Amino acid sequence: MHCDVVVIGAGAAGLSLAWRLLRPPPGVDAPSVVLVDAPPGPLRPSPRTWCYWEQGPGDYDAWLTASWNGLRLHRPAGPPVRRDLGRLTYKMLTSESFDRAVRPRLTGLRLIEAVAEGITDRADGGTVSCRAADGTERRVRARWAFDSRPPASRPPARVRLVQHFQGWFLRTERPAFDPHTVDLMDFRTPQPPHGLSFGYVLPLSSREALVEYTEFGREPLPDHAYQDALRHYTGSVLGLGAFEVCAVERGSIPMTDARHDRRAGTSTFRIGTAGGAVRPSTGYAFAAIQRQTRAVAALVHSGRVPLPPAAYPRRSLAMDAVLLRGIDTGRLSGPEFFTRLFEKVPPERLLRFLDGRTKPYEEFRIGLHTPVVPMLRTTAEIPFLARRA
Ligand SMILES: Cc1cc2nc3c(=O)[nH]c(=O)nc-3n(C[C@H](O)[C@H](O)[C@H](O)COP(=O)(O)OP(=O)(O)OC[C@H]3O[C@@H](n4cnc5c(N)ncnc54)[C@H](O)[C@@H]3O)c2cc1C
Repeated sequence: MHCDVVVIGAGAAGLSLAWRLLRPPPGVDAPSVVLVDAPPGPLRPSPRTWCYWEQGPGDYDAWLTASWNGLRLHRPAGPPVRRDLGRLTYKMLTSESFDRAVRPRLTGLRLIEAVAEGITDRADGGTVSCRAADGTERRVRARWAFDSRPPASRPPARVRLVQHFQGWFLRTERPAFDPHTVDLMDFRTPQPPHGLSFGYVLPLSSREALVEYTEFGREPLPDHAYQDALRHYTGSVLGLGAFEVCAVERGSIPMTDARHDRRAGTSTFRIGTAGGAVRPSTGYAFAAIQRQTRAVAALVHSGRVPLPPAAYPRRSLAMDAVLLRGIDTGRLSGPEFFTRLFEKVPPERLLRFLDGRTKPYEEFRIGLHTPVVPMLRTTAEIPFLARRA
């Protein structure tokens, strides 16, 4: 099979890229696109909820489950800090509604359900070898190949934490949530001996919400530990009363300073998580995936080499490495660190900072609100740490 572009993986990155490639600007022909996705089974990611922030209307607004203009952070004790997002909106899109909406709009796309086993890269194109569920082997040859499969092994890193969480979509018997405000970080959860923990509440109505328990730490917990933590959070902290759990969401997202090589060959590139779209200090990736795939599609449409741009500037990644190392060593208290930033930095600037879109002088000013001595000590130490596989 021959085409202009082959995309491996139909997750957030693969579907977004295919969707954008097939919507060229006026006067430009859409490239021919083949999307190779693993058949249902262990390689397919579980359904998930993506939250991201945007100014004004966005491409996916029609498919959102909810959106909010207010964020709140709870300190371990004392009154919460509430922030109005101004021109920004915090948006929630489920992978299922994204999939349902985007797939029928991929006019002209050829979809192959098969496991991609290898890519042969040459200067004039890439060939993806894949195997369908019935054992048939297929080869797709394309001018450009984009790979969004999770990396087979984790690249070496100096700092390696995991953001791991479990959430309940729940319905309470009585009104219990403020539908206008997201609880972004609720530090009233008992803090683990290593790393940090917080609750996260995405209200869908006064009686429905996605309530999550999250930790930043070295290892995910056994399933029962999340359930205990969620029972404590929903009962003793939120005091929700009686509720039913309608669905469960689980996840773990690597938080590391590993380098993700976006170029896998002359004609082959990595996108999405595999292409470094996850912000190490927060685990957010969806907005970066949109920026990355938008840029790649524009390069393909204009006939240029479509090397995906870096999702975040180097200095943002360097600051993340310091933060993660500070948390890992126990030098920084996560709750104190995030509370201070949330309290002191205007929310629009803070969210632009998390997107890696602030100017150096803004970052300097944000840096002044962090515990300067432990941050400097950690900054001085990082260059001497070995990157370990
Ligand atoms: C539970 C959860 C919640 C998250 N919530 C947020 C959030 O709120 N906001 C945010 O910004 N980020 C969030 N993230 C992080 C990030 O946005 C997601 O992980 C995102 O889904 C990554 O998209 P991706 O396309 O890079 O990878 P994936 O979604 O993992 O897609 C990889 C694709 O590759 C396919 N594949 C794998 N192996 C093969 C193979 N051999 N052959 C063919 N196909 C293959 C899979 O079927 C899949 O379609 C969350 C992550 C998780 C796990």
